[in-house]
Amino acid sequence: MSSHRQSWIQQLKVREEAGLLRQHRLLESPQQPDAQIDGRSLIAFCSNDYLGMANHPEVKQAAIDAIERCGVGSGASHLVVGHHREHQELERELAEFTGRERALVFSTGYMANLAVISALVGKRDFVFEDKLNHASLIDGGLLSGARFQRYLHRNMASLEGYLQRYSTHSKTTPGLKLVVTDGVFSMDGDIANLPELASLCRQYDALLMVDDAHGIGVTGPEGGGSVLASGLSQEDVPVLMGTFGKALGTAGAFVAGSEALIEYLLQMARPYIYTTAMPPAIAAATRKSLAIVRKADDKRRHLSGLIQYFRQKVLGLGYVMPVSHTPIQPIMVGDSRSAMALSQFLEDEGVLVTAIRPPTVPDNTARLRVTLSAEHSYQQVDKLLAALSAALSTANISGQVSF
Ligand SMILES: *Cc1c(COP(=O)(O)O)cnc(C)c1O
Repeated sequence: MSSHRQSWIQQLKVREEAGLLRQHRLLESPQQPDAQIDGRSLIAFCSNDYLGMANHPEVKQAAIDAIERCGVGSGASHLVVGHHREHQELERELAEFTGRERALVFSTGYMANLAVISALVGKRDFVFEDKLNHASLIDGGLLSGARFQRYLHRNMASLEGYLQRYSTHSKTTPGLKLVVTDGVFSMDGDIANLPELASLCRQYDALLMVDDAHGIGVTGPEGGGSVLASGLSQEDVPVLMGTFGKALGTAGAFVAGSEALIEYLLQMARPYIYTTAMPPAIAAATRKSLAIVRKADDKRRHLSGLIQYFRQKVLGLGYVMPVSHTPIQPIMVGDSRSAMALSQFLEDEGVLVTAIRPPTVPDNTARLRVTLSAEHSYQQVDKLLAALSAALSTANISGQVSF
C-alpha cells in the first residue's frame, strides 16, 4: 500500500479511537421534523430549517415555476452571463429587507465569508475574531493573510485590549482593523454584544462585520436578524452577511452594505468572481421564502414558545444548558464518547439529535445540539423530553458516562 494511503488510514484510526469519526446520515425524506433517516422514521431535532421553509409548498412551487422559465443551471459566473433577473430582484429585496443600500448574492455562506474577508483585508491589516466564530469566518481570516487575533468569546475587554495594542502598533504601519463576529453563535445559540461591538469599532476606527446566518428569519422585526433586532444601522455594522440555507430553507448567502462596499466586493472578491452563479430557480425560491418569512410572526411566536417550554423542562431534568433564547439549544456533555452515547440512546428512542464534537466546538465541550423549528409540535418536543429523561434513569448509560 502506498505510504500516503497508510498515513490516511492511520489518521482516521486516531480519530475513531477518540470518538471523533464523522458519518453521513442518509436522509430519504424532505428536511422536516418527521424524517426518514437511514431507513427509519425519526423525529429530527438537528436541522437549521428553523421555520420549516425547506419543504414549504409555496417555496417549492416558486422553484418549480422558475425552473420552467429559467432552466436549471445558471451556465456562467455572475460577471460573465450568469446573473439572472431573479438574482437581481433578490438582491434588491435583500437590500430593502436589511435597510442597506445594496446586497450581493453568493452561492454559499462559506464562500461569502472567504470572499468578503479576503477582499477587505490583506497582509498589512488586522482581523479580530470571536473565539467561537463559525469555521468559514476563521478560514476567511486565515486566507486573507492579515494579522489574525481571536478574542475571548463575547468578551469586550478582551477585544478592546487587542484593539488598543494594535492601534499603537498601526501608528507606524497603518492597516485596516476588521472585527468579525457571528450574530447568533452557531453551536451555542447565544448572541453577540452587538451594540457594544459597534461602539468599540467606532472608538478604534475598526470595521465591523456580522455573520447573521442563524439570526436571519428567526429574530428581529420581520425576522430581520440580530443586527436589526439591536437597531443597528449600516453605519454601525457596515458589513452584514446572512445565509439562505438556514431559516430561509433554500441555499446561498448574501452580503449587504453600502453601495461602495458591494461594488468593491463585486470587483475584488475572487470567490464571487470565479464561480458559477447559483441556479436562478434557487434565487426565485429564496425570494418567495423571504416574502413569507417577513410575515411569519405566527411561526416565530410558536417557535419561541417551544424554546421556553423546552429549556424549562430540560433544566428541570438536571441537564446543563448555557443560556440561549434562540432555536439552538445545546445540551452540554463534555467528552465526545459520552455525547455519542447519549445521541445513540435518543435515536433508539426515535429522536435524532446529533452530537457535536471537537474540532467544531472546543475540547471537552462535546454536546447535543438540539435545534427547534416552528414545524415541531409540543407533542414532538415531549417525545424528546421523555427520551432525555429515560436516558438519565438508564443504568447502562448513566453507569458508563456522565451527562
Ligand atoms: C452555516 C453557516 C455558514 C455557512 O453558510 P453555508 O451557506 O451553509 O455555506 C456561515 N456562517 C455561519 C455562522 C453559519 O452557521
